[in-house]
Amino acid sequence: MKKETQCLHAVRDKTHTTGAVCNPVYLSATFARPAVGESTGYDYARLQNPTREHVEKLIAALEGGTDCLAFSSGMSAIATMMELFSPGDEIVASDDLYGGSVRFFDVVSRKNGMIVSYADTSDLPALKACLTDKTRAIFIETPTNPMMKVCDIAAVKELIGDRNILLIVDNTFLTPYFCRPIELGADIVTHSGTKYLAGHNDTMAGFLITANVDLGEKLKFLHKTIGSMLSPFDSYMVTRGVKTLAIRMEKSQQNAVKIAAWLKAHPKVRKVYYTGLAEHPELEISKKQASGFGAMISFSVDSAQTAHNALSRVKVIMFAESLGGVETLMTYPVTQTHSYIPEAERLARGIDDTLLRLSVGIESAEDLIEDLEAALA
Ligand SMILES: *Cc1c(COP(=O)(O)O)cnc(C)c1O
Repeated sequence: MKKETQCLHAVRDKTHTTGAVCNPVYLSATFARPAVGESTGYDYARLQNPTREHVEKLIAALEGGTDCLAFSSGMSAIATMMELFSPGDEIVASDDLYGGSVRFFDVVSRKNGMIVSYADTSDLPALKACLTDKTRAIFIETPTNPMMKVCDIAAVKELIGDRNILLIVDNTFLTPYFCRPIELGADIVTHSGTKYLAGHNDTMAGFLITANVDLGEKLKFLHKTIGSMLSPFDSYMVTRGVKTLAIRMEKSQQNAVKIAAWLKAHPKVRKVYYTGLAEHPELEISKKQASGFGAMISFSVDSAQTAHNALSRVKVIMFAESLGGVETLMTYPVTQTHSYIPEAERLARGIDDTLLRLSVGIESAEDLIEDLEAALA
């Protein structure tokens, strides 16, 4: 089955007999047992609910994983996953990550005794230099947020070799429609399902997908024990969103390619960070490991004032946090997604007050460019 078809038909619900084309929402927290020692397969909804099971199987199929677990947000998925590790374990993460992940690693994981360090995961020798015999995981985002650096997933897997190190990839930006990290050697894939998977800026969700059953069982135990699962209704919302994943990813990418080219030629734009541009340093890696570049663009303008003006002048585009929805959103990483990161570190990474980030949606590219033109005037 091709990916477009999988988005709609990878999982068929066999629990009902009405022929309903859409999966029902089972608003049931508990399930009656036929007799002592028997179960319908569902006992209590923290363990499993048929609507959540449906979306979990769907995302597992799309990512090519053995198991998938659905969480109430991307951060709750990451928080639960971090319970795999113990005090003294070392985690190496990309040095350009979603700000919420950095906050979690720096505040919560470190308090719990994990040693988290950051490396440029697009620079393999630099990454290798960070590994010790206590390293238990490498956590990468590719493309990174917001600087759009690309990490060669298969090369990192090769670097790990037979060491006891889990390769974890946050695949929120590309989604399994464009990239399947498990096929490239990832052990765990994480998602903020709030973004492209749900896709309509109306639902929060998170996912963990595993490459093997053993890891799947460990995470299932943590999932049911900790309890931050996705509700039946939100599970349905993600299933519904995924139905249009293919056409949303294609259309928003088409728009992004046009907008990136237009921004590059604008006199007030100093630099455009988009993985699909010919001059992107890791263009060949993107082409090798992904079937698309996605629709996330960062760009820096000539002054903070230009950035502020643009944010207050946009009319079609909305000045709002988040990404991956059908509506185009513009973000100011310095005060929004990356405000947690200490100033010196932020500046070293290029996240200054002239940097803007666009999550390109599915509107007409012409309208979006017209809006940007007026906003940057
Ligand atoms: C948004 C985001 C998260 C966090 O997900 P939530 O659903 O907001 O909790 C994690 N990683 C990336 C790359 C994100 O964009």
